[in-house]
Amino acid sequence: MRCSVEGCDVENEEVAITTIPPGLEAFCPYHATGQHRPGRDLLLRPPCACGKGAAGFESLVGGYSARHTERSCFERTITASPDDVTAPEASPGTDPGSDQRHIVPAQKCACGRKLDGTMGAYPGFTESHSVRECIEQTTK
Ligand SMILES: [Zn+2]
Ligand SMILES: [Zn+2]
Ligand SMILES: [Zn+2]
Repeated sequence: MRCSVEGCDVENEEVAITTIPPGLEAFCPYHATGQHRPGRDLLLRPPCACGKGAAGFESLVGGYSARHTERSCFERTITASPDDVTAPEASPGTDPGSDQRHIVPAQKCACGRKLDGTMGAYPGFTESHSVRECIEQTTK
């Protein structure tokens, strides 16, 4: 039996599929709680709305916070220090004032999965990504 989150390879061969009650799925300790814990036990929990973890998953690491429940999921990524965001054209030896018409290449957003300015709203899902902050929300 393997953690039911896609891409997670934690498995425990001692847990049999037949022991899982309806409505519950097997999750590794991290995907069940959001906490990294030793061991490879699988916990039985209801899945969260977005399917990236179990209901009850809560995580707060650096600029990343996440809260997953059966009905709604919320993920937020904040750039650790806004001062670290350097403009791509500010390379050494270049006069910063002479390059105004140059098209700036699209920057990655704070979570690194989309580009700055990506916005989306679909039934049950909204997202907004910028270099400073990314928010993704899933509701069921
Ligand atoms: Zn997992
Ligand atoms: Zn979720
Ligand atoms: Zn993002």
